[in-house]
Amino acid sequence: MPGLYLHIPFCKQACHYCDFHFSTSMGLKEQFVAALIQEMVLRRAYLPDPTAPLETIYFGGGTPSLLTEEELILIFDAIQANFTISPRAEITLEANPDDLTAAKLATLAASPINRLSIGLQSFHEPHLRLMNRAHSAHESSQAVRRAQAAGFENISVDLIYGVPAVSHDVWQADLASLFELAVPHVSAYALTIEPDTAFGRRLKKGTFAAPPDEFVAQQFEMLLAQLRSHGYEQYEISNFCQPGRESRHNSNYWRGVPYLGLGPSAHSFDGHSRQYAVANNPQYVAAVLERSEVPATFEQLSPLDQANEYLLTTLRTSRGCDLAYLRDVLGVDLLAERAAYLASLTAQGMATLEANVLCLTDAGKLLADHITLELFAEAPTTTSA
Ligand code: SF4
Repeated sequence: MPGLYLHIPFCKQACHYCDFHFSTSMGLKEQFVAALIQEMVLRRAYLPDPTAPLETIYFGGGTPSLLTEEELILIFDAIQANFTISPRAEITLEANPDDLTAAKLATLAASPINRLSIGLQSFHEPHLRLMNRAHSAHESSQAVRRAQAAGFENISVDLIYGVPAVSHDVWQADLASLFELAVPHVSAYALTIEPDTAFGRRLKKGTFAAPPDEFVAQQFEMLLAQLRSHGYEQYEISNFCQPGRESRHNSNYWRGVPYLGLGPSAHSFDGHSRQYAVANNPQYVAAVLERSEVPATFEQLSPLDQANEYLLTTLRTSRGCDLAYLRDVLGVDLLAERAAYLASLTAQGMATLEANVLCLTDAGKLLADHITLELFAEAPTTTSA
């Protein structure tokens, strides 16, 4: 069942680790909303079955909680005019704690949004200041409690671990604060230092150091142990939920379900190809409003690309990678071609292989990127006479 993603490319300030597309200038916000609505009209037939009801809608960013009540009404009116929304659709909005005032939550609760993904990242003040988050430690808990009081039960929170100078004791305290909130879904990410971020620039200058891999691995192990003991399932490497409370939108990404992405930098997938919209607000707004076109790069996926994408996404999930499907449907026979490597993974306790389904163990999850790269199928080399 298809999904709709809307990228809201504005933030109050730049977090020091973030390389998503956003602008801290709100100057183009009004024109952006007009362009987003116009893009819906232009691309309403993109999905393979444009009449199929949308099962999931996801407002990501950037900071979608910066949208005003009027802007949300305009956007939902446009979605309803251009698509059919399933009556049981999961409709998520990413929100930052500092935006979740009682008034904003009342607006959100009155809209079709039925799930909030709140970017807490930490409950620890020095940790939040180090990352240049716009909210305080107190606001982390307060935002979730306010959202619950406003009637939102379906809440996910984001946390970051593996941050320098954040000791295991602080991480343990963060997890204890998390469990007090009793939210059904948690996304927890290890800090990655991207080059085009404040942390990346400091790393290059030598004024910032990433923690050792072992330190990050220990915090990941603490996370797994604590979440499991509190009844959460790890259904993807970075995603945990109470039974039956998976993110339907993200699960569909990992299952290869088509989706339409709107807004600058948004990706779209129609089952065979991907499209990546320009990550530039002025260019996006001008192209859509003045020329009725969406500047984007287009990538036709070869069978090999599709096989590698299937491997990359499924190996991160608890369902694992069905190597028989990979062989029979996508034409890549790892069971035969990489039998020795698969055997070494299972012998070292990195993975299980049962009924042709490869699943990473906890030890394997720590090396998921490396194992995936090792297994990536390559195009056969051709030789010329
Ligand atoms: S982490 Fe979120 S709030 Fe911070 S800059 Fe990135 S998109 Fe904006």
